[in-house]
Amino acid sequence: KLRLNEVGKSFHLPRGEDIQAIENVSFDTHENEVCVLLGPSGCGKSTVLRMVAGLEQPTTGELMLDGKRITGPAQERGMVFQAYTSFDWLTVQQNVEYGMRLNHVPKQERRDRAEHFIELVGLSRFAGTYPRHLSGGMKQRVAIARTLANEPAILLMDEPFGALDAQTRWQMQELMMEIVEAANTTVLVVTHDIEEAIFLADRIEFMSRHPGRVHEEIIPAFKQGQRIGQKEDLIGLAGY
Ligand code: ATP
Ligand code: MG
Repeated sequence: KLRLNEVGKSFHLPRGEDIQAIENVSFDTHENEVCVLLGPSGCGKSTVLRMVAGLEQPTTGELMLDGKRITGPAQERGMVFQAYTSFDWLTVQQNVEYGMRLNHVPKQERRDRAEHFIELVGLSRFAGTYPRHLSGGMKQRVAIARTLANEPAILLMDEPFGALDAQTRWQMQELMMEIVEAANTTVLVVTHDIEEAIFLADRIEFMSRHPGRVHEEIIPAFKQGQRIGQKEDLIGLAGY
């Protein structure tokens, strides 16, 4: 389980001033849930995610995963970025295997896992294809398969479908739900899209911009057969 405890982050600007990106962000994610970090542009969502990934250090507070303090990047925390990050000179299969090589997964195991996760994202037919021949949505599926193949304890996604058209976005959101169920992993997704948050989330961690600061609230979305979420409530909170 992931726990953020009063996490703050400030950046030094070249002129010597500091900018407080986030302040006092505290929340937990629970096992195998989709937790969505929702908030307006610039409120610090990516900063939070990058700290969870270990790509950035907090200025104050601490981040813990399963009781251990997060100090840097590790395979247990897999990140999918908004921009497609596949390697163009490798096939889909090789792309998915490549990430596992860095983590010293044995060859046969790499092959098996790659096949499994490529199938999970619905790209079996394209295992031998180069990413440049794939659509944006498909490339993002490759990125998801590659990240999941390392069997992270938590999957981190920063606006993963932000670059896609509306139709593809919906398809990806649905696929995402299937994947989460099949892969049995905790997911932390960042988005500024309220509808996406309501669709994906078991829980929404809401970040809003207060005078120069960020403030956090939790809104449980619930899964009673269908997902219930009050868009208007969220809009009110967000000050969108
Ligand atoms: P968006 O929805 O536009 O992606 P966000 O919620 O992800 O926004 P962040 O990118 O985390 O927001 O940025 C939060 C604040 O921190 C912004 O004011 C941004 O300018 C500042 N910031 C982020 N990274 C840096 C950096 N490396 N150096 C200086 N300021 C930064
Ligand atoms: Mg961002």
